[in-house]
Amino acid sequence: GLFGEAYRRRHEITVTGDEVPPPLTSFETTGFPSEILKEVLNAGFSAPTPIQAQSWPIALQSRDIVAVAKTGSGKTLGYLIPGFIHLKRSCKDPRLGPTVLVLSPTRELATQIQVEAVKFGKSSRFSCTCLYGGAPKGPQLKELERGADIVVATPGRLNDILEMRRVSLSQVSYLVLDEADRMLDMGFEPQIRKIVKEVPARRQTLMYTATWPKEVRKIAADLLVNPVQVNIGNVD
Ligand code: ADP
Ligand code: MG
Repeated sequence: GLFGEAYRRRHEITVTGDEVPPPLTSFETTGFPSEILKEVLNAGFSAPTPIQAQSWPIALQSRDIVAVAKTGSGKTLGYLIPGFIHLKRSCKDPRLGPTVLVLSPTRELATQIQVEAVKFGKSSRFSCTCLYGGAPKGPQLKELERGADIVVATPGRLNDILEMRRVSLSQVSYLVLDEADRMLDMGFEPQIRKIVKEVPARRQTLMYTATWPKEVRKIAADLLVNPVQVNIGNVD
């Protein structure tokens, strides 16, 4: 409605896609389950950030999404909370493999995402495992064996573990490519494509990126289906 339009103008949100739902401008109107709302309010947040406000209702419709917003805009919870709700709806056995898979360019970023997933998913009791290079595989494989609803991984290490056949991605139905531009800059495109081949085609795919160069557009065109695009501020 009109209020949604005004909110978008005020926060420089532009959307492209069919029948894009209006932004969820306050936590109270999100309809999030109480155990998730509880954690958000515990964190002391007063309102969704613009990328959250606009990407949540789209992600909750199970649609593919491309979100372009600069660093520090709150993208992590933009995809994690709809991921939690996806998990609650799907009721799968985590010992068969993760339902939510987040790809992230570096160990540091992957670890930060896991910390956020644990913090905001605590009351929902989701399990989350982080896989990254530069550390022994043993403990990561042990954690995987116990089962994880959510796996956050760098493409290199996940690909190694896939080649060892120590994880199955056949249950993944919510795939996030976080910092897609950085992953491509770091040369991870071949690993990303190999990983995505192991994920069922029937899935929701979300791509979060700070910039929108042609390499990122190309991989988005290949991996996402009829995505809604959300840009915050000027995107070239
Ligand atoms: P990005 O991935 O866009 O760089 P992050 O998801 O890392 O941004 O979020 C940046 C910081 O903002 C984090 O410390 C996060 O906890 C905080 N944050 C996220 N959502 C909100 C919110 N709605 N209100 C206030 N702070 C938030
Ligand atoms: Mg981020």
